[in-house]
Amino acid sequence: MDTQQKIGILGGGQLGKMLYQAGSVKHLPMTIMEKSEDCPARIVCQHFVTGDITSYQDVLSFGEGVDIITIEIENVNVEALEKLEATGKKVFPQPSVLKLIRDKGLQKMFYEGFSIPTADFLLFADAAELRKAITDGHVKLPFVQKLRKEGYDGRGVQVVRTEEDLKNLFDLPSVVESKVDIREEISVIVVRNEAGDLKAFPPVQMEFHPTANLVEFLFAPADISFQLSEEVTRLAIHVAEKLGIVGLLAVEMFVDTQNNVLVNEVAPRPHNSGHHTIEANYTSQYENHLRAITGMPLGSTEAHHAAAMVNLLGAEGFEGPTNYEGLEDALKRQGVYAHLYGKSTTKPFRKMGHITIIGKELKKVKKIAADLYQHVIVNSPGTSGNK
Ligand code: ADP
Repeated sequence: MDTQQKIGILGGGQLGKMLYQAGSVKHLPMTIMEKSEDCPARIVCQHFVTGDITSYQDVLSFGEGVDIITIEIENVNVEALEKLEATGKKVFPQPSVLKLIRDKGLQKMFYEGFSIPTADFLLFADAAELRKAITDGHVKLPFVQKLRKEGYDGRGVQVVRTEEDLKNLFDLPSVVESKVDIREEISVIVVRNEAGDLKAFPPVQMEFHPTANLVEFLFAPADISFQLSEEVTRLAIHVAEKLGIVGLLAVEMFVDTQNNVLVNEVAPRPHNSGHHTIEANYTSQYENHLRAITGMPLGSTEAHHAAAMVNLLGAEGFEGPTNYEGLEDALKRQGVYAHLYGKSTTKPFRKMGHITIIGKELKKVKKIAADLYQHVIVNSPGTSGNK
């Protein structure tokens, strides 16, 4: 087992921070590249390079100095990663997977090509083409319009319900999906190494903020039937195998009111829906990602506790220096772990941290999560207010 391969991580956000923390336990030689030192990961990384992860030259020079390159965010320069891969560097996720996933249109075509269940869709070049399809009766209200590129955390996704909404169509290449009657949003994180060994974390249930489209709560294991749990796990593994991913793949799925399971989208990196694995599982998603990309044996993905995760999003109506109200009381409780991202300024819906709650019973854990959600508020010092 080679624990001396140099690992380069593109991106110094909170996911980069937790990845670095996991790797430091095994003393893996890691370096992070990020544009500014004022980033969540900086506090934990000994080796840090200032550079733009979207710049061809910066990514190329950074990659040349390491053996394995990985990411914590998809928005990186893929052309440089292709070049690095061609010169013999290990790049995980592979640039081909990244290219496919960054374009929601290509991603949907991939699912269609492998008969992977997903919401029905059509692709459009611009708003005029979409309007014509509506007039011609090929697209019916309500539908969901998603920008093919550069949407994230709900930005670049809109539900178009009424004639009035048609005025605000995105005028860029987009995917138009039929609106699913969602009963549950489930995520399964799969980890796969180069040898093709593969493990899946137990399914996780996600609850979204109604307007901001951001995950607010997450429960693990998902409170769903054994059968459904098996089905979503099988499907997630199938997607990971068809992609041939090396590293983590978070597979986000919908379960509709008819119990159909549909793949929504995937992320080839550590994921929000796996934060709790640090405290609740035998091996965290971060550690397993590093094991997969360095060729170590994959760790057990099993959970030893039930868990909930509450995202600490910047409260509405506050923009300025960060203050975590109500945190003191939260920390007095057993099984509560606060992760703060060190972002010096808060703004509405910005991801400022998260709290993981673990316990023996999911029911109790959920109750604490609901309570903390009400009482821990990210605002600015000297202010106070509700969410
Ligand atoms: P992002 O990449 O920004 O996370 P998603 O494709 O995951 O965007 O969409 C964000 C949210 O919008 C989903 O979690 C879901 O709640 C809702 N959504 C997305 N697609 C559909 C759909 N076809 N039908 C109903 N709701 C959807």
